[in-house]
Amino acid sequence: MASMKAKDGGVSSSAGTGALKSKEQGRELSRPGKLSGKGDSLEGEVRAFLTDEGELHTYDDLTKVNPVTPATVLRCLQARYRARVFYTHAGCTLVALNPFQPVPHLYSPAVMKEYHHAAQPQEFKPHIFIVAEGAYRNVQGQVEPANQSLVVSGESGAGKTWTSRCLMKYYATVASSSDGRQDTVERVERRVLDSNPVMEAFGNACTLRNSNSSRFGKYVQLQLNRSQLLVGASVQTYLLEKTRVAFQAPSERNFHIFYQMVKGATAQQRQEWRMAPDQTFAWLPSAERGLEEDRFQGTLEAMVHLGIDEEKRGQIFRVLAGLLHLGNVTFGASSDESQPCGLPENARGSLQTTAELLKVPPEELQTCLRFRSLKAGKQSALLKPCSQSECSVRRDCLAKLVYAHLFDWLVAFINSSICADSSEWSNFIGLLDVYGFECFLLNHLEQLCINYANEKLQQHFVAHYLKAQQEEYVSEGLEWSFVKYQDNQGCLDLIEGSPVSVFSLLNEECRLNRPSDAGQFRVRLEKELSPNGSISWDKFNKQPHFTVAHYAGNVSYQIPGMMEKNKDPVPPELVQMLQRSEEPLLLALFAKTNVEDSTTKGHSKVVTVVSKFKSSLESLMKILHSTTPHYTRCIKPNPDCRPLTFKKEEVILQLEACGIVETINISAAGFPIRIPYARFLQRYGAVAASRVWAQLDCDRGSEQEHTDILSSAVADVLREVLKSCCPDPWLPHGGHAHSSL
Ligand code: ADP
Ligand code: MG
Repeated sequence: MASMKAKDGGVSSSAGTGALKSKEQGRELSRPGKLSGKGDSLEGEVRAFLTDEGELHTYDDLTKVNPVTPATVLRCLQARYRARVFYTHAGCTLVALNPFQPVPHLYSPAVMKEYHHAAQPQEFKPHIFIVAEGAYRNVQGQVEPANQSLVVSGESGAGKTWTSRCLMKYYATVASSSDGRQDTVERVERRVLDSNPVMEAFGNACTLRNSNSSRFGKYVQLQLNRSQLLVGASVQTYLLEKTRVAFQAPSERNFHIFYQMVKGATAQQRQEWRMAPDQTFAWLPSAERGLEEDRFQGTLEAMVHLGIDEEKRGQIFRVLAGLLHLGNVTFGASSDESQPCGLPENARGSLQTTAELLKVPPEELQTCLRFRSLKAGKQSALLKPCSQSECSVRRDCLAKLVYAHLFDWLVAFINSSICADSSEWSNFIGLLDVYGFECFLLNHLEQLCINYANEKLQQHFVAHYLKAQQEEYVSEGLEWSFVKYQDNQGCLDLIEGSPVSVFSLLNEECRLNRPSDAGQFRVRLEKELSPNGSISWDKFNKQPHFTVAHYAGNVSYQIPGMMEKNKDPVPPELVQMLQRSEEPLLLALFAKTNVEDSTTKGHSKVVTVVSKFKSSLESLMKILHSTTPHYTRCIKPNPDCRPLTFKKEEVILQLEACGIVETINISAAGFPIRIPYARFLQRYGAVAASRVWAQLDCDRGSEQEHTDILSSAVADVLREVLKSCCPDPWLPHGGHAHSSL
């Protein structure tokens, strides 16, 4: 008997287990949407489609809300949040509302196992574990194994990192071995999990939006062997916000690791790192919401588990302490351009300490920070004094350079520690945790890159999902016409296309290596790109800028500073100094850095920030395309991270930004409910018995034909019943009713 594939997710509501029902969600809910199990009634199913305020919280799939509008979706999510229900299906995606308070019983190993061992986990209450388990089962697909990707998106503080961690824990629990090799496997699982606190200590910071905000994107591949056991993992990171090491916006903080060191150091470490009891650091602003100070011990333990030995740890923290002291180096104004800037008394001490900790000669450090080296032909370099602000830029550049290399080194080390040999694993489940769409008062190159990444992901989502739907309908022989959806190709062409795009023009500007002129660049953009409908200019904004119509909304980007950020120039003298350091870690970090790349002389070779980002994103997209994706949209219910507080205005913006209503419409315009023929007939056959017998010639036709006739007759009756109580054309257009109810 033909049936819509086994994943009849639409009908699934919330069978779950008794334990899940009563404990997790605080109280037992009545469920008109519950269709599985005995005693389901037609009435129950009809009611599932009616938007009854009192029962909104019971709609565990937003495709069931009728009509699907931003307002109804919002009301449904609000009702569920009030009822302490944090997960809701939205067709093929899962919406996760951040509770902003621990809900331990929702994520216990026992609950994990319940979802893992369920015959039909999708019939349980919506949960991130349904997504996790779905991907896990897909890995060993019935036809052939397929790699999976779990894409977690949402704005800062929405719960992406939390969700990724939760997914990792799920796999570390359910994909763990209980055979004789347990020791090894357990060690691997432990190390995979231990990569989180280390990467978060070095890559997360307290921001206005999230006190533990990830300042980098990451894609973790969990490697599974043929027996579906977790044997290793690899991590790829994207676009670390390295500027934070030397600059923190008001009320924001530096990376956690610095606070952890300062707070958690032993007396001996304080001495080694030259931190007097009353020591203050310019680059360590405090903010009330910082909660990470006392995590140093935890970070250290995780580093130990990952195999970072005592000597290496000592080197890492010495270098970091050096950076903190570097932040206290300030420069006096110079009276005359030909004279170098002076160093105030306390800055001299800080410079000396920095040099000692980085193990470079203090004189060389001083020269590097205050003089530019001009090389003319083969002659020895000429030193030109830098202005006060140029000196500060060079100091910040040194810190960013060291920190970014250290972060990359750490990621490489983690990979070497947790990555299994290619012969040991056969498939992977990828977890993608990247920054969500960003739109601030002022937006810069970073936001352009982040929003570009989100455009790419959105394109992937729409293309994949529509394609998957179409294939399913075709295989079922259903008629199907596409709903209109927002195609963001125009926007992507504007940003990254060829021959001209924002990226290509930015890169050209960097190659020309002339002083950047924001006004001129704006004119060029207008001249070259105006035919693309996705770019515009705001008449009231006097700053040189351009506005991009993203799928999630319009964002205006500031041009001043953009070219410089794209070039991200590194004075070669700084790299050369680090390459001569006596600190083995610095030597290792910079051994392979090609100084020529960053010199003005070699400017044609400069790899810009956007081209680097574009190519890393392209390889990510290639991997994503080769996997079966699963999407989770995290929503931040209020901007202040307050527990159980739902601010409609905040949520609606995020629903728009992730195109959730569109997603639901795509799902709902298709066939939101899929019931295998057998189950459909078993449940509703009685309602059409008389009609069916009239049509059926039991002596002729195959079993398949009989089933089709039966299904179609039952569906006709159901249509009539439903139309009489719900005249709206909620039924999917086209197609046979036998699988579309
Ligand atoms: P993002 O990575 O999207 O910026 P996080 O994952 O860091 O956001 O989440 C921000 C905070 O929200 C977390 O530190 C945690 O306190 C809380 N949080 C997120 N998801 C959950 C959840 N499912 N249950 C409880 N708290 C959560
Ligand atoms: Mg995060």
